[in-house]
Amino acid sequence: MATIIDGKQLALEIRSQVRLDVVKLVEKYGKIPHLTVILIGEDPASQTYVSGKEKACQYAGIKSSIIHKDDSISEMELLNLIDDLNANNDVDGILLQLPIPKHLDADKIISKILPEKDVDGFTPINVAKLAMGHPGLVPCTPLGIMRLLEKYHIEIEGKHCVVIGRSQIVGKPMASLLLKANGTVTVCHSRTKELNKVAQLGDILVVAIGKPNLVDKTYIKEGAVVIDVGTSRVDGKLTGDVFFESAKEKAGFITPVPGGVGPMTIACLLENTLTCYRYLRGEKQ
Ligand code: NAD
Repeated sequence: MATIIDGKQLALEIRSQVRLDVVKLVEKYGKIPHLTVILIGEDPASQTYVSGKEKACQYAGIKSSIIHKDDSISEMELLNLIDDLNANNDVDGILLQLPIPKHLDADKIISKILPEKDVDGFTPINVAKLAMGHPGLVPCTPLGIMRLLEKYHIEIEGKHCVVIGRSQIVGKPMASLLLKANGTVTVCHSRTKELNKVAQLGDILVVAIGKPNLVDKTYIKEGAVVIDVGTSRVDGKLTGDVFFESAKEKAGFITPVPGGVGPMTIACLLENTLTCYRYLRGEKQ
C-alpha cells in the first residue's frame, strides 16, 4: 500500500519558515514584502483562489493587495496598470490571476510583468531561464512538487519521469525541473497514443490534465511515485486526475486530492514572493 504524501504538512512548515524569513528581511531592509494580485471579472473559482492567497500572505506577514478590475477592462488599461506596478518600489511581486477574459491576450500581458516581480514564473525570461537550467522564478505548482519529492527523499536522478499534460503552468515547467534534476523525462498530452502504456514506464508519474479519475492502476508501474495535480469539481467535491483508491494499490507514494499538491502551490507562491523581494534588492538566489 502506498505512502501518502502529505502536502498540507509540508506546506505548513514552508509557510512557518517564510514567516520567520519575513521578520529577518524586514529587519534587514526595513520594508514589508508586498504581493499584488490582479483579478479580472467575477469568476467564483478565481475569487476563491485569490482569497486563499490573501489569507496565506496574512499568515506569513506579507502585505497583499488585490486590484479587482471589471472584465470590460481594455488591454491598454491592463498593460498600463502593469507598467505602474513594475515601477512601484513598494510592490515586490505581481500576480495576474488566470484565466483572464478572452478579449485580452494573456501572453502579451504576462510578458509585460517585470521578470524580477514575476511571482508565477510565467514571463518569457523566466521560462527561458528554467528551460536553460538557470536560476530564476519557477512556477509555483511544479516548484511545490519538487519540494514534496525532496521532503520524501525521492531520488530523481536516472529515474524515468512521465509527465501527463504539457501546459505552460504545470506540465512543461515540471518536465524542465525533472530534467534539470537528471531525470529521464517523457511528456504526454491529449494526442499521446496508448497513454496507459507510456505512463506505466514512469518511476515518477506526474498527472496534470484536468480529467477527474482518469488515471487508475493500469497506468501505474508497481511502486511508482504518483503526483496528482488535477483539481476538478465532481458533485461539489474536489477531485484529482488520479483514481486514488485504485492507484494506491500499486503506487509506492501518492499525493491525495485535496491535501497534496494544492497547499504546496500557495506555500511556494509565498516563497517566490520573497525570492522577488531579494532579487529586487540585488540578492542572488
Ligand atoms: P490545461 O488545460 O492547461 O492543460 C491540460 C493538459 O492535459 C494539456 O496539455 C492536454 O494536452 C493534456 N490532456 C488533456 N486531456 C488529456 C488526456 N485525456 N490524456 C492526456 N493528456 C490530456 O491544464 P493545467 O492548467 O495544466 O491544469 C491541469 C489540472 O491541474 C487542472 O485540473 C487544474 O485545475 C489543476 N491545477 C492544479 C493546481 C494545484 O495547485 N493543485 C495548479 C494548477 C493546475
